[in-house]
Amino acid sequence: MTTHREPLPSVLDTIGNTPLVAVHAAPEEVPVYAKLESFNPGASVKDRIGKYMLERMLDDGTLEPGGTVVEPTAGNTGIGIAVAAGQLGVDAVFVVPERFSVEKQRLMRALGAEVINTPTDDGMGGAIDRAHELAEELDDAVVPQQFSNPLNSEAHYATTGPEVYDALDDEVGAIVAGCGTAGTLMGMARYGRERHPDTYVVAVEPEGSLYATVVGEEAEEAEYKTEGIGTHDPATNELFDPALVDEVSQVADRRTHEEIQRLAREEGQLVASSSAANSVVARDVARRIRDGEIDAPYDSVATVFPDSSERYLSKGLYGSFEEWEG
Ligand code: PMP
Repeated sequence: MTTHREPLPSVLDTIGNTPLVAVHAAPEEVPVYAKLESFNPGASVKDRIGKYMLERMLDDGTLEPGGTVVEPTAGNTGIGIAVAAGQLGVDAVFVVPERFSVEKQRLMRALGAEVINTPTDDGMGGAIDRAHELAEELDDAVVPQQFSNPLNSEAHYATTGPEVYDALDDEVGAIVAGCGTAGTLMGMARYGRERHPDTYVVAVEPEGSLYATVVGEEAEEAEYKTEGIGTHDPATNELFDPALVDEVSQVADRRTHEEIQRLAREEGQLVASSSAANSVVARDVARRIRDGEIDAPYDSVATVFPDSSERYLSKGLYGSFEEWEG
């Protein structure tokens, strides 16, 4: 795990192989382990897909050397793609709905990318439409489109999944992960179900998000503060395959906010809202495995902590709930 003991030729070689760390608050009988994705050079899980998608697209000729990628992104994917684009000789343009962290947009610019904002009210759908318009206007431009590109989940099938299973000697009872594009969960779930077909798979989303409706549950749409996961328009989340999911679990922002602060105070984990939501659900799934309510092939739960709290300090996530919500 992150044992980079030799000099490396490129920052791209530091992507992946992140540490897998126990969540202390889990039940003793069913441990929970989280992949600390802030150990990646762009400090989030999305470095994995930035590198993987661009390398594959350059390999198969979808993307020309010296060409441009245009991507609609809430931020971390932009940073991940910008890190890879800079090193692979590709230009990057990102279309970001206004409501997302300014920190992330500054980092994308620092990495040499261009950032274009779209109105918050137009949602992710508006950003996707704008990205396609821009790609039409530019020469040699492609939209990797993380929301529909199978290379997104493939990156996690090829890296995140195997890393978790290797670290736990293949004994993973349940996989729990928040879904933005759902690439992380789908890649890990597909890998996990191949290792053991009864692996219990749980998708996490904030209350107010609508993934639950895709698995036939009722859900009421509302705004939420948790960043990076959830959807208001499941038609745009093309990678989400309900056949790979046993359950969609919703977490209220208030509960997530408590867990962000508990993880820092009690576990030394400086992680952000999607990590905290994953932690809440992973601990709950572990309790239910212990109590016999979930039939999982092994007594363990794997999840991911996608990024760090430092990226959201300006949003008051270590203040009161009202300050964070503000
Ligand atoms: N957490 C954060 C902070 C993210 O930026 C993302 C990506 N939107 C996710 C979780 C969810 O990852 P995925 O898109 O693979 O579902």
